[in-house]
Amino acid sequence: KGLSLARPAIEASRRRPWRCCAAWMAEASQRVFLALWPGAEVAGRLQHIALEAEKRCGSRRMRRDTLHITLAFLGEVAESRLPLIGEAMATLQAGRFRLRIDTSGYWAHNRIVWAGCRAWPAQLDGLVGDIRCALADAGLPVATENAFFPHVTLLRKAQAVAALPEFESIDWPVDAWVLAASSPASDGVGYRRLTGWPLT
Ligand code: ATP
Ligand code: MG
Repeated sequence: KGLSLARPAIEASRRRPWRCCAAWMAEASQRVFLALWPGAEVAGRLQHIALEAEKRCGSRRMRRDTLHITLAFLGEVAESRLPLIGEAMATLQAGRFRLRIDTSGYWAHNRIVWAGCRAWPAQLDGLVGDIRCALADAGLPVATENAFFPHVTLLRKAQAVAALPEFESIDWPVDAWVLAASSPASDGVGYRRLTGWPLT
């Protein structure tokens, strides 16, 4: 049945090969998410914790430029729909805040070692809620299977360890959020920041 449904399209594309190409291009998508990206100083300090953690766990450390906190995960979005994300984000207004990275942990279900916050300002929950609502209103639902918990993945494929390194808490001033795309890279995953919005 599926084949017979597809046949007219195949025959049409034989007659007009550029149509096939156009259809293929329209299908192109990107795996995208909204995130907080640290500046150079905070990224450097997070990397230092990752280096210490790596000494204790057999694992793959995240490169410094990949360190981030995911706010909302969209997954595959057709490239033609990416501008909807920008339009939805441009409607939001939110204030700056500071995060205190003061704890770390290991999750057995996905074998990551992370650094995160014991507590975080209500503005962050507000921002995440607003982002998710604005995206849903734009017909772009986000993954909600996990409650939001701000964390930076430091190590992947990590072994459980008795103790993670102690570290001095990191003060992270947050003044923007970004849209990022992920794609497989030879040395793990690669992220590209596509665009961002300021907190005022
Ligand atoms: P890979 O999946 O290739 O091992 P990755 O998890 O870093 O690498 P993505 O799966 O594209 O790359 O995820 C991008 C970001 O979104 C990461 O911070 C990831 O933790 C987060 N993320 C992925 N899937 C979900 C989800 N279902 N819910 C919430 N956050 C997610
Ligand atoms: Mg993933």
